[in-house]
Amino acid sequence: MNCPHCQRLLYSRQHARCGYCGGLLPEEVRLSDHEVDEMKAEIRDIDARRAVAKEKEDREREEQRRRDRDRGAAVYFPPGPF
Ligand SMILES: [Zn+2]
Repeated sequence: MNCPHCQRLLYSRQHARCGYCGGLLPEEVRLSDHEVDEMKAEIRDIDARRAVAKEKEDREREEQRRRDRDRGAAVYFPPGPF
């Protein structure tokens, strides 16, 4: 979406005015309060999911490390034919 006054790309549709020329943006260009809220909620949601995923990943990595260590300690050498 471009500014109808200066034709520059609008970096944000949350503001009532263009960040370049200060021109008032028409209603249809702007996101409604409801849409802004929805967008923010979505971002929050994504952040939360990312945090959970990272935590899970950390936990799995830690578990894997522990498993590797256990396996390393329990290596069984069968008695050879020697
Ligand atoms: Zn503008």
